[in-house]
Amino acid sequence: MKKGKKLYEGKAKIIFASAEKNLVIQHFKDDATAFNNQKKANIEGKGILNNRISEHILSALKDVGIENHLIKRLNMREQLIDLAEIIPIEFIVRNIVTGSLTKRLGIEEGTILNKPLIEFCYKNDQLGDPLVSREHIDVFGWATLSELNLITDQCLRINDFLQGMFRGINIKLIDFKLEFGKRKSDGKIILADEISPDTCRLWDADTDKKLDKDRFRKDLGDVVEAYQEVARRLGILHEQVSNVRPIKFPKPTAVKIKKK
Ligand code: UDP
Repeated sequence: MKKGKKLYEGKAKIIFASAEKNLVIQHFKDDATAFNNQKKANIEGKGILNNRISEHILSALKDVGIENHLIKRLNMREQLIDLAEIIPIEFIVRNIVTGSLTKRLGIEEGTILNKPLIEFCYKNDQLGDPLVSREHIDVFGWATLSELNLITDQCLRINDFLQGMFRGINIKLIDFKLEFGKRKSDGKIILADEISPDTCRLWDADTDKKLDKDRFRKDLGDVVEAYQEVARRLGILHEQVSNVRPIKFPKPTAVKIKKK
């Protein structure tokens, strides 16, 4: 597939034009950022792993009827995707309390929510992606209320599916972020962006070991090794993606999680 000009460069991905009408190429970089761009690093192999993991998850979601932008993976770092106009909202889905929710509301880390919580954040780096309400989204025209209902319904379906998928490989899905967009070809609202350890919190079910971007955010080390472990458990790591050694996990120990 011939790659056209660069259309957009984000923190972890680049979008290029493709030869096909209404399709673009999504390129996964090794760059990692956290804390609103204040922390930056290049993590060799991360982009390759996220490309594979996101391809796997989005294909599985398509198989269960959740439409998304993925057409096909093109190579180690690139995917062909539908061109979509991204809704400027991050849809955060939470099953267990951690991260910004702990700080914002003072709720104890590890609290298991009695039902999934969906939060909306306005995608704006300068403002630090502030939390907004359905009413903000409606009044400022970022999405209509009927589009929002459709999206939140999809968020819950995606959460159900992903929780089951990860439970099957002994991983707890703590929380994650989704983005949706309006597909250029037909105007339909579809799931876009990526689903990977960059955008999910994934904990080993026995040890609560973090297998996601928090290893970078919190300087825990072994970032690529943790992403590799997720790919390995998903059964998609058939080739060596970098020269790092496979991660060695400690023997499982009992972990207590406080139930509210
Ligand atoms: N998240 C993301 N991109 C963002 C913000 C959050 O992918 O710009 C993901 C993050 O990885 C986590 C979930 O959304 O899985 C909830 O993040 P939280 O609001 O707790 O943010 P943080 O603690 O990172 O500030």
